[in-house]
Amino acid sequence: MRPIQFSVASLSVFSKNNVGKHFKYVWLAVFLSFSYHSGSVKTQGAIPEEHPTLPVAPAMDSLAQPSKTIYFTFDDGPNRGTPQVVDVLCQEEMPATFFLVGSHIFGSKKQFSQFQNLLSNPCFEAANHSFYHAKNRYNQYYRSPEQVLEDFTLMSDSAKFESGIARTPGMNVWRTANITHDADKRSAKAADLLKENGYSLVGWDVEWKAKDLQLKKSPEELVSEIEEHFEEHLTKTENHLVLLLHDQHFTDTNNIQSLQTLIKLLKGKQEYAFKQVSEYPCLGY
Ligand SMILES: [Zn+2]
Repeated sequence: MRPIQFSVASLSVFSKNNVGKHFKYVWLAVFLSFSYHSGSVKTQGAIPEEHPTLPVAPAMDSLAQPSKTIYFTFDDGPNRGTPQVVDVLCQEEMPATFFLVGSHIFGSKKQFSQFQNLLSNPCFEAANHSFYHAKNRYNQYYRSPEQVLEDFTLMSDSAKFESGIARTPGMNVWRTANITHDADKRSAKAADLLKENGYSLVGWDVEWKAKDLQLKKSPEELVSEIEEHFEEHLTKTENHLVLLLHDQHFTDTNNIQSLQTLIKLLKGKQEYAFKQVSEYPCLGY
């Protein structure tokens, strides 16, 4: 009925402009005639007894667009697990971000060549996880924010990283344009100093933990944990989830198989998109 309303409204304008009454009805007749023949107006009388079959809307499933994003991140490489991780990710065409440690990159020719392989693959990106990884003495490390900054600068310079994306060793710390989070207060001052110097710190929402190199959860259990994080709004950014894994857990054949299963399970759910951390919202570096 909208065309008729539009027509009358238009005619009232004509009327205000002192166009004669008769002229108004001529316009109405012309409009209705045109509309009837073109099929844009259906009066009561014009509706056929049997309504034409309306096109059936496609099932919602076939229209589903990913509404949530998962970021696969791998820490502490390059190491013995890295080649297997890379193989699985390549087979599954899964983008990922590797938070690398400088002393590992330059630890051997083999590790340096793994680093170069990562850089040459557009599916992957490398980011700063410090040069010395606090030598695994976190207490002492975070007590000196200047030393932490020096460690990250050394890594950035030696690996020639252009982006400021970084992850602090041993602690879940966030410093982006709109997220400030310290799982442990000991890292707060160092994190602030890193941010002041242009770094954007990205921690994680869910970690696939392992004990004695055995993954604690099955791929199915991890998928449930991921779903729960989305549903209960537990992620740092709504509908975005950063997943943490470690290269060194994927030297074991069962674990490698589990990684592949995890990826297939997540890809099977049409609601998920997969991106690199550089595409995370509001990084602000
Ligand atoms: Zn680490």
